[in-house]
Amino acid sequence: MMTITFLSSTIRKSLVQKLRTAVVASLAVGLVVGAPVYAQENPMNTSTQKAALPRVLLLATGGTIAGSADSRGSGAYNAGAIGAQQLISSVAGLGELASLSAEQVASIGSQDMTDDVWFKLAHRIQEAFDKHEADSVVITHGTDTMEETAYFLSLVLKTDKPVVLVGSMRPATALGADGPANIYQAVQVAVDRQSIGRGVLVVMNDQIDSARGVTKTHSTSVQTMQSPNLGSQGYVDLGHVRFLQPVQPSQLLTLPKAAPLPRVEIIYSHSNMDASQIEHAIADKAKGIILAGMGDGNTSKAALAALEKAASQGIVVVRSTRVSKGYVNRDVEVDDSKSGFVASMDLNPQKARVLTQLLIANGITDPVKVQEAFLNGH
Ligand code: ASP
Repeated sequence: MMTITFLSSTIRKSLVQKLRTAVVASLAVGLVVGAPVYAQENPMNTSTQKAALPRVLLLATGGTIAGSADSRGSGAYNAGAIGAQQLISSVAGLGELASLSAEQVASIGSQDMTDDVWFKLAHRIQEAFDKHEADSVVITHGTDTMEETAYFLSLVLKTDKPVVLVGSMRPATALGADGPANIYQAVQVAVDRQSIGRGVLVVMNDQIDSARGVTKTHSTSVQTMQSPNLGSQGYVDLGHVRFLQPVQPSQLLTLPKAAPLPRVEIIYSHSNMDASQIEHAIADKAKGIILAGMGDGNTSKAALAALEKAASQGIVVVRSTRVSKGYVNRDVEVDDSKSGFVASMDLNPQKARVLTQLLIANGITDPVKVQEAFLNGH
């Protein structure tokens, strides 16, 4: 069954306004059970006001943020070794910001992220919001695939409540571990009422990024999560959360009944490229192929011919780019209209793959419709 919804900015703004009004009203009449109490309405949180603290559900999945090493200066560590509760206890002052509960969803390096874990996260978050168990969710996650998990959740969660992903580049036991400060800032953002209606966010190293925009840009630096095409949403320091961009309309697709998502392959383009990888993807019954093309989504004549063959067989073919910054536009050096291809616009190959998987799962495979989803989603 196909469901695709674009909330116009007007509808979204009015939803956000309604939520804000409800929050302010609940404060005016005292505490309403189950009503979210976000940070800016209650700047004087103290331990005697515990009941008024926003309820944050922390879902732990592993990653370096939960990593532990034998030596503090060592580069080697086990991702996901530290549990959810221990992570929370390691962050001084967190209890002043929020009333936290923690659940362990997985204990993996995010290079091992699976559709099953994505579905578990999506179901648990939706349930927690629908049953009014939490006002916001924070997910601790490895940075390797954080952008994909964030984007997947942003496409399937039906909520205006804040969901924030956070990770770290140094394990908890390392000198200068960045995890505790990142968790603190993630909770700061999650309980701030300005975060309502902004979809899924990523908070790391003082910066707030959108699920659609963010990507890992550095293999080791703590300043790794950036939004090269869309720019950051805002910044967070110990006292303040500042958004620089307005609330954007969001794109929603129906979460399929069960994992796995349809098979979509990413094919990386390079000089002297032949058609063999694409032929393999067709033979392996891929439902979609994402080209991590050169420059503006280009590839060799041989590869293009194989991609045309794939498109003619009903495989969704999306041209993205291996370049770290810039849009891939339609019909520039490649005739997308003639070949039945889709241009990925601002989405890098791994994000284009997530969107394509969900579109196919929602029964949207016509290249014109798929292109609309890539164009309209931000
Ligand atoms: N390999 C780790 C992961 O993604 C790296 C990190 O967390 O920064 O889980």
